[in-house]
Amino acid sequence: MFHTLPKKHLVAAALLSALVGVGLFLSSSENVEAQRISIPLSLKTPQTSNSPAEEAIRVATQSLAGPTAAANIPPSQQPAETATLQWHEYQVRSGDSLSTLFHRAGFDDSLMFTVLNGKGDGKALADLYVGEKIAFGIDDQQHLAGIRLTKSRLSRIEVTREGDHYETRKIVRQPEVHVAFADGVIQDSLFVAGQKAGLSDRLTMELAGIFGWDIDFVNDIRQGDRFDVVYEQLYLDGEKIGNGRILAASFTNQGDEYQAVLYTDASGESEYYTPDGKSMRKAFLRTPVAFTRISSPFNMHRLHPILHHLRKHEGTDFAAPSGTPIKAAGDGKIIYVGRKGGYGNMVIIAHGQGITTRYGHMRSFARRTQVGSHVTQGQVIGYVGQTGLATGPHLHYEFRVHGVPRNPVTVHLPDANPISRQERASFDAQTTKLLSQLNTFEATTRIALTQPDKEAL
Ligand SMILES: [Zn+2]
Repeated sequence: MFHTLPKKHLVAAALLSALVGVGLFLSSSENVEAQRISIPLSLKTPQTSNSPAEEAIRVATQSLAGPTAAANIPPSQQPAETATLQWHEYQVRSGDSLSTLFHRAGFDDSLMFTVLNGKGDGKALADLYVGEKIAFGIDDQQHLAGIRLTKSRLSRIEVTREGDHYETRKIVRQPEVHVAFADGVIQDSLFVAGQKAGLSDRLTMELAGIFGWDIDFVNDIRQGDRFDVVYEQLYLDGEKIGNGRILAASFTNQGDEYQAVLYTDASGESEYYTPDGKSMRKAFLRTPVAFTRISSPFNMHRLHPILHHLRKHEGTDFAAPSGTPIKAAGDGKIIYVGRKGGYGNMVIIAHGQGITTRYGHMRSFARRTQVGSHVTQGQVIGYVGQTGLATGPHLHYEFRVHGVPRNPVTVHLPDANPISRQERASFDAQTTKLLSQLNTFEATTRIALTQPDKEAL
């Protein structure tokens, strides 16, 4: 049905979902980043995983030929690792397996199995992706002395020969975290302002996501709205490799200022809160799917008696392409998964306090969607389809309070849980410094903005 236009916050939510997609897509291109102020934060220093022996190793390039002789003799007869190794590096290509790479390096499957069945997590070596680099370290007797599989700049798998066996270790490096600041005033759009401030599109999207429960970023943004952000920049060996999280931020929309700060609780969950500890989000998503339009609104009254359609519509239909992910609207427990009459494939989630949400016409369920399992807000539970009584692909979504259907588009959504009494001291300890950094930074940017002529004197 077309007769009802979507409410504006629904449009906003849909657009936001679409933009989040774009943001994630763009997140790999962090090269547009410009750094404003960067203060080293003595959180973590890069791990010194490089042993002196390793530094001494000559890394041969791919152009070098592989070793001529296969090392088939038992490791026990191999010399101790004191000599300098020669490294032969290969790039993992489409169709490669660990076996083909061993052969390319001049070794056979029996040696490969010796490595795989050796000490440590040998199997990790077989988990190969196209584009990764694998290097074989060969001693001066042409025997395999080590393997290094580079997964990313932050992670690699290392095999070393230890006497008569091989041992595999996973080595993960921690980037150095610097705290950075950015601020902007919106002239054209949030994205342009974000870019001018040196934020990546992903961070700008995250900023919009943090305040998206309070501010309608499609309809309510005005020229002159402004933001200040404290965020993480990640460095490895002195080089910036990307951005981390937004730690604190403020957004002024049409004169109203909102502030948010990141807090990680005792169980390791990180969320954004207001400075006084209220959650920045609601306990439920307004729309659990990125939809194109509302194809049929909630209606508890009889529709078109003339047409003899006396059926109520106990939910909202969100039209979306088949296969679009459907998210759990809130934290809860799955109490139904399966076929249910006209609903087709259906999931029901119980959220506590008598609230249940229902998702119908799914094409398929996500793998972890099982009765009794817990879900968190935003977790994908299934995919849009048109099973049951449906004329096109859409999500039929219901929000029920004590069994009574409520309009999902207009129902009052409770806030997510605030900081608990037990966490309060820890919250204050973790956020006080961040908030004072944010406020200090904000004060300096506003002075710069409101007194532009002072410097000219
Ligand atoms: Zn429906």
